[in-house]
Amino acid sequence: MPVSEFELIERIFAPLGVHRDDVVLGIGDDCALLQPSPGQLLAVSIDTLVAGVHFSPDDDPRSLGHKALAVNLSDLAASAAEPAWATLAMTLPGVDAGRLDWLSAFADGFAGLARRYDLALVGGDTTRGPLSITVQVHGFVPAEQALRRDGARAGEGIYLSGPVGDARLALLVKGGRKVDPVHAEAVAARLHRPEPRVELGRRLRGLASAAIDVSDGLVADLGHILERSGVGATIHLDELPLSAAVSAYLGETDDWALPLAGGDDYELCFTAPDARQAALRGLGCQQIGRLESEPGIRCLRPDGSPLNLSTAGYDHFGHD
Ligand code: ADP
Ligand code: MG
Repeated sequence: MPVSEFELIERIFAPLGVHRDDVVLGIGDDCALLQPSPGQLLAVSIDTLVAGVHFSPDDDPRSLGHKALAVNLSDLAASAAEPAWATLAMTLPGVDAGRLDWLSAFADGFAGLARRYDLALVGGDTTRGPLSITVQVHGFVPAEQALRRDGARAGEGIYLSGPVGDARLALLVKGGRKVDPVHAEAVAARLHRPEPRVELGRRLRGLASAAIDVSDGLVADLGHILERSGVGATIHLDELPLSAAVSAYLGETDDWALPLAGGDDYELCFTAPDARQAALRGLGCQQIGRLESEPGIRCLRPDGSPLNLSTAGYDHFGHD
């Protein structure tokens, strides 16, 4: 028996998220009524995941619920904002019993992450059509401490919060590439259950000069910082944080495009002056290069020779 939109909202969506005192009125009315924190900026970001483009309809729905929220929290992290509220718009191709189970699992994955960050789901929309998921998040950050893409200066260090290339390798494995089963499992977890670097983003307030989350690939995303800040960069490939899986892959293929251009890892890439080096120690981040006044990105191989990004296969990657 088909389930009505109202039953869906009541059974699946309304119980999601946590109670917060700054939610005057949540799900169930025409608008949510929210009480923003005085003296703080409201940070807002939205992302859509489309079936067949950003995920496969037979992906595990629990992981998908996690990921739909995680990719948005990653944007808040890159702005050094603290998560508060979310809205969720779901387009569903009809709701039968199988879809209800799918939605319950999706809701479970979403709720797990929402609880972890004290995030309330305050509203949304439910419509019929090809499967797609849109999440909007709202967070808070003190006005002077928001991290942006335009604050980087020549001479500063470039840092990464963790390894890159794993999610892209997981897609290759899905496409038939053979790797060590332990590596296959590790990279699949990185693709399907990314961990937004929310705490790190908060701790970078007052330390980083610019930040971005790596969703489209390191070169593309660092490129946004460089362009907005009017600087260039040199990256030392032997300093790139890499998982055992990606290191093994590089040993076999020398395909540096994978860690440099592979997206979906959701690590933070940020810049900071050397005077902050001591304060950055202990945050688990790795310096991968330095900003320069000459525009563009130069990559140096472990032997010191330059890597040509276009012949390294970088152009073969498409980005959404
Ligand atoms: P309206 O017709 O006034 O836009 P709806 O009937 O679409 O309201 O939704 C009723 C209530 O349920 C609203 O508070 C809306 O925010 C909430 N809602 C609808 N779909 C979702 C969803 N997928 N997740 C969370 N809340 C939802
Ligand atoms: Mg209304």
